[in-house]
Amino acid sequence: MAIYLCHTDPDLYEHDADVVAVRPGAVALSRSAFHPGGGGQVSDIGAIEWSGGRAAVTHVELDGDTWWHVLDDATAEPSGSVQVTVDADHRLGVASLHTMSHVLNAFVFDEFAGALVTGAQITGDGKGRMDFDLPEVDNDRLRALTDPINAVIARGLTVDSIYVPVTEATPESGLMRSKSVAPPPTDDGTFRVIDIDGVDRQACGGTHLTNTGQSRPIAITKVENKGRHNRRVRFQFADA
Ligand SMILES: [Zn+2]
Repeated sequence: MAIYLCHTDPDLYEHDADVVAVRPGAVALSRSAFHPGGGGQVSDIGAIEWSGGRAAVTHVELDGDTWWHVLDDATAEPSGSVQVTVDADHRLGVASLHTMSHVLNAFVFDEFAGALVTGAQITGDGKGRMDFDLPEVDNDRLRALTDPINAVIARGLTVDSIYVPVTEATPESGLMRSKSVAPPPTDDGTFRVIDIDGVDRQACGGTHLTNTGQSRPIAITKVENKGRHNRRVRFQFADA
């Protein structure tokens, strides 16, 4: 994967850019702080403003190396220099649930002998789910993970992103936790690894908090059996 601007500068929510391509209702930019989505999380939303107009960005569509910022106005014709705004509340919500999905994943990995993730989805409505390869497990043990996750939020742990060589990301390292949403390496042969202090380290290309204390408390709302091998854990903000 490429290293995104939102990876190197996670607090950048407003910046200038130039329009490099347009199609009806969408625009590609010279630079963008948006996360384009992928790996189980929705893209950022926001807005762009140009001389004579403004439109909301509803999502990003990837077309090879081109990021189409899809606008809510199909007749909009942005051109030249534009002002880009990433919706900070939406980013925080998705990054919170995404970061807590790593914590959930860490507890499941520890408690159930290295169980792997088979799918994940974080949506913009304050909800998420993770699927685990867990053939034999008492679902009540999964439901009971709400309190330990909220304890990690309460402790306010630092969340770092670091880059490690592909050669270190062996199956035994525990860094590759997913059967389906693992990111490809960067062009220089490294993986981006998210390190939640003392709790979890795993490769990921999504958006995350910089401290677990930034998240509102969460609640595991449902555990479902999805086939003989899969458990689906649904979670959301406790106050949602
Ligand atoms: Zn992640």
